[in-house]
Amino acid sequence: MATLELDSITKTFQDGDEEIVAVDDVSMSIDDGEFLVVVGPSGCGKSTTLRMVAGLETITAGTLSIDDRVVNDVKSQDRDIAMVFQSYALYPHMSVRENMSFGLEESTDLPDDEINRMVSETGEMLGISPLLDRKPSDLSGGQQQRVALGRAIVRDPEVFLMDEPLSNLDAKLRAEMRTELQRLQNDLGVTTVYVTHDQTEAMTMGDRIAILDGGELQQIAEPLKCYHEPANQFVASFLGEPSMNFFDVTLDGDRLVGDVFEYPIGDDVRADLGETTDLVLGIRPEAVELVEGGADVPHEFGMTVDVVEPMGDENTVYLQFDPDADTETGATLVATIDGFTRVSEGDTVTAHIPEDAIHVFDRVTGEALHNRSMEDAADQVDLA
Ligand code: ATP
Repeated sequence: MATLELDSITKTFQDGDEEIVAVDDVSMSIDDGEFLVVVGPSGCGKSTTLRMVAGLETITAGTLSIDDRVVNDVKSQDRDIAMVFQSYALYPHMSVRENMSFGLEESTDLPDDEINRMVSETGEMLGISPLLDRKPSDLSGGQQQRVALGRAIVRDPEVFLMDEPLSNLDAKLRAEMRTELQRLQNDLGVTTVYVTHDQTEAMTMGDRIAILDGGELQQIAEPLKCYHEPANQFVASFLGEPSMNFFDVTLDGDRLVGDVFEYPIGDDVRADLGETTDLVLGIRPEAVELVEGGADVPHEFGMTVDVVEPMGDENTVYLQFDPDADTETGATLVATIDGFTRVSEGDTVTAHIPEDAIHVFDRVTGEALHNRSMEDAADQVDLA
């Protein structure tokens, strides 16, 4: 097991005359035994970061250390890492057993019976013992992925690097393997860096997540911290489905003034905004409540139901401040509400946007100036 340290790591590619900055000054420390998920949209530099750690890509600037040893110039095979790819990359002419033992035979002097014992043990751990004599072409996608994992595990490396390892599996199998991988990583305690573009994997699997955009690290923290206390508007919008609602607003005294509504704020929120007046108000769909309408209450808005998407357990409801306004102007509020609450298109409802659940961002820099507090969010349901 090992610690990993990325210190101001940059990677540039030359494309003709153009210099592409794939990874831009990224620093992070990964603890011994930690499961770190690196997540972000396509092209954000996730795979390049992983490939530099693996030694498959040179590092343009910065230092990479494994267990306090700088490894920038250490060959991939001498870094004691094992990689699992999306494409499994199994040798088609070899049996499962041979696929799993090949790396050990190449890189160690272990006797054959010891290698056999390790392969059998790992096969048992992954539930693939009956498949050891089959060829990869005789296995399902899920079974092939288990073999690819087994090949990495049997080498007993210091670090696992995984690049979208579940994305070729169907949704149900992916969910199963997600849980299984977490359990395995927990049992083995091997430091793991796991790349994905899937926010569900990011939220559920990692001890921490690192969110990249445009090659730059946006935030690295525990998943719930990133969700409830995003560093900026990008993180806020990337995590959560449906995405957080955003409204351009301007600060005027103790009110946030938008195109179609005004939102009064208390002293605590006001204090976080400082001198910044061009802002974005954010509210997560699940934080919006539909309430009995009536008196003119601050933070409550008469709205018209535009679309209802019933999901069974919950409804996603698209509400409009002004049914005659153009929906492109940001006048739509998305709310997720209980699946048994009956609402239909055209209904008039009252939406409550609770002040303790709002986020406010600097419209120019995207920086979060005010977030709901993670402790407050957690306090709402405490079964301990
Ligand atoms: P995806 O999820 O689509 O795989 P990613 O986040 O893993 O994306 P990378 O593959 O790391 O992104 O690519 C980051 C950027 O670097 C992209 O703009 C990509 O086009 C560029 N890039 C990656 N490899 C090369 C290369 N060998 N030559 C030139 N540009 C490259």
